[in-house]
Amino acid sequence: MDGFLVLESISKSFGNRKVLDNVSVSIRFGEIFSILGPSGCGKTTLLRICAGLEEPDSGRIYLNGQDITDLPANKRPVNTVFQNYALFPHMTVRQNIAYGLKIAGRDKNEIDEEVNRFLKLTQMENFSGSKVTKLSGGQKQRTAIARALINKPNVLLLDEPLAALDLKLRQNMLSELQKIHNEVGSTFLYVTHDQGEAMSVSDRIAVMNSGKIEQCAAPVDVYERPSTSFVASFIGDTNLVEGMVVSNSNNFCQLVITALPAMRAMSLDGVSIGDRVRLLIRPENILILKDKPESLDSIDNIISGTVKETTYMGQQTKYLINAGDHLLSVVRHNGAVSDDSNIRAGDTVWLQCRADKSYVLAD
Ligand code: ATP
Repeated sequence: MDGFLVLESISKSFGNRKVLDNVSVSIRFGEIFSILGPSGCGKTTLLRICAGLEEPDSGRIYLNGQDITDLPANKRPVNTVFQNYALFPHMTVRQNIAYGLKIAGRDKNEIDEEVNRFLKLTQMENFSGSKVTKLSGGQKQRTAIARALINKPNVLLLDEPLAALDLKLRQNMLSELQKIHNEVGSTFLYVTHDQGEAMSVSDRIAVMNSGKIEQCAAPVDVYERPSTSFVASFIGDTNLVEGMVVSNSNNFCQLVITALPAMRAMSLDGVSIGDRVRLLIRPENILILKDKPESLDSIDNIISGTVKETTYMGQQTKYLINAGDHLLSVVRHNGAVSDDSNIRAGDTVWLQCRADKSYVLAD
């Protein structure tokens, strides 16, 4: 497998519980790669195996072509930023950041110079003499990142690094993290259960479920073309409706669905007539209309329904629509054009779902 950090067929059990099941991932040099999944799916265990803090039962780990599976943690050119920061509480910010270089026996002037560079990079210059116990969560986080990066690790492992921060701070730290990454060019392996974080910071995302990777792709592909129902529902809101394939040609399938008209959707390799599949339509890809559209394009799926609930959310309004025996979720952005702003619970509406924004999922 090509790649800078390569995990090959990693399995791990604790007692008789299999936590990682034959996981293979290939991470490219210089990318921000996220492992995303629900609590308990095995993300941290995978990261700890990369760090050398946990041993796999089977499988190998390669870094830059070298097999590092049996290399102890302190010999690996990787550094970890933990959720709880793990800073030295009795030391100042400067002393914390300088620690790695001091242990390595580097010259004092060189250490000072490097620490100054990382204080600046993480915007912590004004706190260099502060005790870390006096810092806010975001400041502790920046100190932990500087302390890890100053050792110039080939790989920076980040385990839910922003989990303890509030939303605003998290958003700021995410964009700072990207700036720092651009500046230092290390490879970042980022573990999170927060899909928004993973989507905004990553070059690629591996979505994990119960110890297995279900999909590994760029954020846009994971969102737009999820390969499983789990990925589709874990990342963002979604409508998933069961159906059966009745025709399949030119990249489009025709599906029959209980209590709905036949629907067209983008097909999937390996799907055949007679297969039971799921239809995936994101709520923002459904147009909600008060009147039945007049000229029907063959690409449009048109469904009628009754509004069950509307929720105004500022930038957007969310609608729950009863259609046949299905409950569909629709999101409309509240922009300048809002000719349908008077849609209310109980109204009959028409939903237009473009076939090229509707997808077939095999599971
Ligand atoms: P979270 O987001 O909650 O941290 P995670 O996806 O990172 O979850 P892991 O921490 O990797 O999940 O844990 C996966 C499973 O392995 C969990 O059920 C956990 O209880 C179990 N586990 C992890 N470490 C150990 C251990 N040292 N001994 C026994 N079980 C463990």
